[in-house]
Amino acid sequence: MTDTAFSSLALPADLLDNLATLGYTEMTPIQAQSLPSVLDGKDIIAQAKTGSGKTAAFSLGVLAKLNVKRFRVQSLVLCPTRELAEQVAEEMRKLARGRHNVKVLTLCGGVSIGPQIGSLEHGAHIIVGTPGRVDDHLRKGTLRLDDVETLVLDEADQMLDMGFQDTLDAIIARVPAHRQTLLFSATFPRSINAIAQRVLSHPVSVKVDEVQ
Ligand code: ADP
Ligand code: MG
Repeated sequence: MTDTAFSSLALPADLLDNLATLGYTEMTPIQAQSLPSVLDGKDIIAQAKTGSGKTAAFSLGVLAKLNVKRFRVQSLVLCPTRELAEQVAEEMRKLARGRHNVKVLTLCGGVSIGPQIGSLEHGAHIIVGTPGRVDDHLRKGTLRLDDVETLVLDEADQMLDMGFQDTLDAIIARVPAHRQTLLFSATFPRSINAIAQRVLSHPVSVKVDEVQ
């Protein structure tokens, strides 16, 4: 039996307190199955349908490891669209509310790059972005990923559907090889296996079936 209370996890007390304040008491199935391994530092490949709580599964892993005093980009979360990136950033800020000064910065296309460059000069702990714009910043030299410890590929199936494979490879080549990588997806087309083999190291596989 898996204990599904958040309080059963080895999470920092401030995150646990905030989860209680937010009314998050029980983990969803994908959270219960992935969070122990995520918090153990393992790479993960996780599949669960939309709306199943995948964002908190990786966000709590990222936040548990974050060193707020070290003002460097420690985590990069890649999402298929600007809308999804904004939602992830919002959820991360909500989950980090109990903790002071966690800076989550979104880097998405469709808005001018200048203000983003200004924000990057001020620094961030976590970047949430779309592959195209993150790659633009890497090419310009306005973003460095040398201190990234956790890489998240969120909604990986959609990113591959949108043709981001080469861009993802270019970005991942700039992230230290010694890192934790978390791949979350709603479906598992064959293309996911290919990228998983390239970017994950001895991953734990988690799948939550849609039919109960
Ligand atoms: P997915 O990425 O799997 O499509 P989300 O991470 O966006 O799903 O989660 C869907 C909704 O469920 C969000 O509004 C989120 O705030 C809420 N949620 C996630 N986990 C929990 C939980 N353990 N308890 C209560 N609400 C949760
Ligand atoms: Mg999601």
